[in-house]
Amino acid sequence: EFALVFANLEGRPAGSVFAERVLDAFVLPFQIDGKSLHISASIGISLFTGGEHSMDSVLQQADMALQQAKRAGGNTLCFFNTDMQTSVLERASLEADLHKALERNELALHYQVQVDHQGVTTGVEALLRWYHPLRGWVSPATFIPLAEENRLILPIGYWVLRSACEQLAKWSHQTAYAPLSISVNVSSVQFQQPEFVRDVEALLAETQAPPSRLVLEVTESLLMHEPTRVRNTMLRLRAKGVRFALDDFGTGYSSLSYLKRLPLDELKIDQSFIHELLTDKTDAAIVDTTILLAVSLGLTVVAEGVEKKEQLDWLRGHGCYRYQGYLFGRPTPIEYLFESY
Ligand code: C2E
Ligand code: MG
Ligand code: MG
Repeated sequence: EFALVFANLEGRPAGSVFAERVLDAFVLPFQIDGKSLHISASIGISLFTGGEHSMDSVLQQADMALQQAKRAGGNTLCFFNTDMQTSVLERASLEADLHKALERNELALHYQVQVDHQGVTTGVEALLRWYHPLRGWVSPATFIPLAEENRLILPIGYWVLRSACEQLAKWSHQTAYAPLSISVNVSSVQFQQPEFVRDVEALLAETQAPPSRLVLEVTESLLMHEPTRVRNTMLRLRAKGVRFALDDFGTGYSSLSYLKRLPLDELKIDQSFIHELLTDKTDAAIVDTTILLAVSLGLTVVAEGVEKKEQLDWLRGHGCYRYQGYLFGRPTPIEYLFESY
């Protein structure tokens, strides 16, 4: 990365002219050792009006604009504007609050039921919720990626695992609930920690949760890096009785070789395919094929996001016998989960 400082530029138009000249310099390939190398550039521009700003803040603004230029596909230029600053500040403030969320007890686990084709509840998925004192409920889709970036997902993920294990231990003493499993989403960041296996084993021992009732949900992105190590981690936990589910199947690489090599028990078809199941022929074909594939590999196949009776009928007719979705219940605090029981 380079910083170019131009003195005495007359505003935006002059800034563009200079930046475009820089971009033009990259149009032709560079000749190095008889080889042609193509390089593109991304440029972020901040106009320094003097006085009120420090040098650091000008560079920071140029960097925000640069990130924007890269997100726009690169090989382009982008001027800083205050919206960028707002979104960066917004992120920073959310991040600072997330740091405090654990100790302030703002995180909660909600549970969503999974049922079989006879309508019997077979287990639940634990879904994280953050109740922010000012913003209200913040979606995990917003804060989990943030927590993964700043590694807060490690203490948060540990807390989720502990809560789920404690719940499993409680249920193990109640005949009606003892057969239920709890599925826990595990971030790749968390899974790749060297102490992950030790942590899970210690939690199981400490809480006395039955390991065979714990299902760890992983996503295909995890399987991309170091598949051998991932496989070994899974095998060690599986030897204890812990089960594994592949979440959001179909949205990632859906590589068949992973499916064959990894010790998986369950495959969860992503809800995006279920939504249009009845109207979109391609989605229906994907779901149908996935069910056949899962069954032939000996995996339990779970459909996510089932909202309509017709979707359920279709799935049942095509050999899928496990479901999760609003049709059966929304994610709910544990005390209301089995209210109707
Ligand atoms: P996921 O694991 O695929 O969870 C299913 C998501 O679908 C949940 O969203 C759930 O509320 C939603 N859902 C369930 N049934 C329906 C339905 O019928 N219709 C629709 N439209 N949606 C349905 P949620 O709770 O917002 O969680 C989003 C994602 O955040 C999860 O996707 C998971 O990837 C992540 N997440 C949630 N809790 C945790 C956690 O404790 N740790 C980690 N690492 N990730 C988590
Ligand atoms: Mg999940
Ligand atoms: Mg999912």
